[in-house]
Amino acid sequence: MSPRSDTFEALRSDLADFPVIDTHEHTAGPEHYPRCDEPIAALIQGYVRSDLVSAGGEGDVEMLADCSVATRKKWPIFRKLWARTEHTGYAHVTKWILKHQYGVETLSLKALESIKPKLADLSDPKGYEAYLDKHNIKCRLVDLVMFPQIRRDFLAGKHKLPPRDRLMISLPELHSIRSFEQINEITQRSGRCVTSLDEYLEVLGEQLDRYLKLAAAGAKDQSAYNRGIAYDNPPKARADELFNRIIADPRASLGWPEAKPLDDFIFGALMRLARDKQIPIQLHTGHMAGIRNDIAKTRAVLLTKVLELHRDVNFDLFHGNWPYAGDWLYLGKNYPNVHLDCCWVHIIDPRYARRVLADSLVTVPHSKIHGFGGDYLDSIMHAAGHLAIAKDNIAAALTEMVDSGWMDAAQARQVAADWLFNNPNEFFKLGFEPISV
Ligand SMILES: [Zn+2]
Repeated sequence: MSPRSDTFEALRSDLADFPVIDTHEHTAGPEHYPRCDEPIAALIQGYVRSDLVSAGGEGDVEMLADCSVATRKKWPIFRKLWARTEHTGYAHVTKWILKHQYGVETLSLKALESIKPKLADLSDPKGYEAYLDKHNIKCRLVDLVMFPQIRRDFLAGKHKLPPRDRLMISLPELHSIRSFEQINEITQRSGRCVTSLDEYLEVLGEQLDRYLKLAAAGAKDQSAYNRGIAYDNPPKARADELFNRIIADPRASLGWPEAKPLDDFIFGALMRLARDKQIPIQLHTGHMAGIRNDIAKTRAVLLTKVLELHRDVNFDLFHGNWPYAGDWLYLGKNYPNVHLDCCWVHIIDPRYARRVLADSLVTVPHSKIHGFGGDYLDSIMHAAGHLAIAKDNIAAALTEMVDSGWMDAAQARQVAADWLFNNPNEFFKLGFEPISV
């Protein structure tokens, strides 16, 4: 797919050395690196499993991902499913690892068995940091949504993140309140037991301050997985009524959509706190991990009311809003408080990423694009594969614009540096020296 022109080759080779700010990861550090000495399970960590399921492997993927099942036993099923899905963006991350980490060009049982003794273990902090250095990833914004205990310990000042990681505060649990138990779980972190919505919001404000003191770089919301992202602006009395009902009876709980006014009101209150405390907000839009979710509820355009109401909050809209590119570009162009984040989209759909980046260059100020976020839960090696594909996509998009005479090669290099480093550095106030190439 690479346009192998001289422009592309020169640009891609320059990009290889650019420093990168990875705007979105879920990995929690070397001690959580998934140690696995079975090649198929090690290679199919992350998103490619969804493609294997989509290709008919729903009943098989759990077994394929099990490190204790022998490669030889898995091979007949894996071979069949891999043949069906090896050309997707997700599968190309696996191919990148095979080729660049283990020198394997073609997948076979023999090749898999040959890499078994070489499977990389990045659970040692030195090796982990060295691997990220090798890929010139200077900073990672991490959303530890899958690690509630780490988030609790972090807030209590008992957990230190790896040196280049900055925490993104996880918002969904703070506003998706349905029961006394959930309220208590949040407020206990501050040693408080609240009796009203006002007191609950006071606790949220205190906790945000504490996160910021501990160097959180912003907040992240992926409620799109569980609810529509069309947030209303309900009167406080409706939210008070629902909150009072569950706070007064620990056995009561709210259903959906009954809880929506309370959920929406607290989300709005969090946006006001974000405005006052200058916290940038990352929002999930578009495609969701896994299978069988409803894309209609996650379209970025559903956020219009939020973006218009909270115009002093800076928003970072995720994942290219795949597959709704036009809406995403429109929101970035139309709202000064909206930036566009390409995390994950480079492997969801590499061709879409190339198109939308080239389109963004002529429609949206290029200072508003954040070029890369790996978005892997488990493995920094998979994130590195993703980064290589992202750099291919960025070089291809800019090659198109250089070869058509829209810009020159030096300008293209600077745009790539801004997308990958300078823009997120400035937006999240990370404090690095900007780079000029
Ligand atoms: Zn994510």
